Amino acid sequence: MSKPLLYLLVFFSFSLQGQTIDRYFERIRNNDAELVAFISQMPKGGDLHNHYSGSVYAETYISYVVKQDYFINKNTLEVAKALPKNGADDWARFSELAKSKLLGAYKQKLMQKWSVKDYNGVSYPSDKQFFETFAAFGIANESQERLDVGILELKNRAKAEHVAYIETMFTGIGSKIPDLHDNTVLDQLEKAQDIRDEHTTTVLLDELYKYFTENKASVYASAHNEMIEKMHTRLHIDDESFTMRYMNYVSRGGDPVSVFKNLVLSFISAQESPLVVGVNIVAPEDGEVSMSDYWLHMQMFRYLHSKYPKVKYSMHAGELTLGLVKPEELTWHINEAVRVAGAQRIGHGVDMAYERNPYELLQYMADNKIAIEINLYSNEFILKVKGDDHPFKLYKDFQVPIVISSDDAGILRSNMIHQFELLAKRYKYVSYQDIKRYVYNSIDYSFIKEDSLKKKLKAQMDADFRKFEKEVATAYAE
Ligand SMILES: [Zn+2]
Repeated sequence: MSKPLLYLLVFFSFSLQGQTIDRYFERIRNNDAELVAFISQMPKGGDLHNHYSGSVYAETYISYVVKQDYFINKNTLEVAKALPKNGADDWARFSELAKSKLLGAYKQKLMQKWSVKDYNGVSYPSDKQFFETFAAFGIANESQERLDVGILELKNRAKAEHVAYIETMFTGIGSKIPDLHDNTVLDQLEKAQDIRDEHTTTVLLDELYKYFTENKASVYASAHNEMIEKMHTRLHIDDESFTMRYMNYVSRGGDPVSVFKNLVLSFISAQESPLVVGVNIVAPEDGEVSMSDYWLHMQMFRYLHSKYPKVKYSMHAGELTLGLVKPEELTWHINEAVRVAGAQRIGHGVDMAYERNPYELLQYMADNKIAIEINLYSNEFILKVKGDDHPFKLYKDFQVPIVISSDDAGILRSNMIHQFELLAKRYKYVSYQDIKRYVYNSIDYSFIKEDSLKKKLKAQMDADFRKFEKEVATAYAE
């Protein structure tokens, strides 16, 4: 056969396969089981909005504290390593519960406390139910050995779900940088924020930056990087079908000096390590300090961007909705995150429709290729925003690059398959080809540092999609 003829035949067979799969997808998208079977086999690219500790399932944490035979408070379900001095009668070791045949019941109660399992939607605020889990299961996540177990759980689950890449918000960075002994800078920062004085804020951040860097910030950042690099190598995380990279995160609930200190550490770490590819800011956005210091936090990112222009960062911004905060607070968080802080990606962005000049903002995100990380189930659970209340269509209409991600699949008892299922079920104008584009976006808009690795992952994606589409075409030949 001549070469041109062969090419033509290959082309026709692929395009026929393409049409078949588009048609098949439209036919099955209204049946949950058929849709899940389809999506579970579909390549999903990367999960770019993934919190490490919230992605490990509660079963893993519970089996650890039980194995350690820690103490549990039978009323509050708090878990402790040692018997607290006060109220000792309320506490029991897990082994004692096992002897009295109560262990199973307490494990169930812990599952309900450390995740959203069996949550009935009314007895407790859903955002509190969600966010309070982090501190509760923290005790099961405190050693390198535990981090190893969790990271491998995430990797193995990803591979089973045809997820090829995870960019996980892994940990904060510890340090022994001595506290400032007077609160002058802190007070001045708050005052500068009150009158939105950018110049004074920059001068104060300069002063703090000098202090942190002179007090060995880079030594602590290097130690953190070394821990990640050793773990990553020891556990053979990257293989022929899976890759993981890490983001540092900073909790926005602290005072401005400590938030800035942790951001400085995070930026230095992300600048130096090939595996640490970015920085993020976490903790409930509607929290009192998150809200009152939001302007300052954006100034901090802008400042650090000028010091470390190559470091990428995504921001939880606009994870808010009407009723959660005062209406005027819905108008500016995404705006500031992209225009002032210079975020390269936005996490959630749920309040988009309420933002100041939303059309301009959407256009700005599209023009500047600022991707939006869409977390459908998380938004449904925490914010009660789903379907057309979610600004998904606005992002799509304005061609803002969309990626689909999981947020905290462990706490939410969800997974990446579930996210794509919700997408296909709820937004019927999203075609199979759209979904495929979102999958490729998750590699294109990842913060992976090496172009060669991005290329490799995209080639892997091409091969995986060819295989998947062929399988569907064969199974459902018309
Ligand atoms: Zn998140």
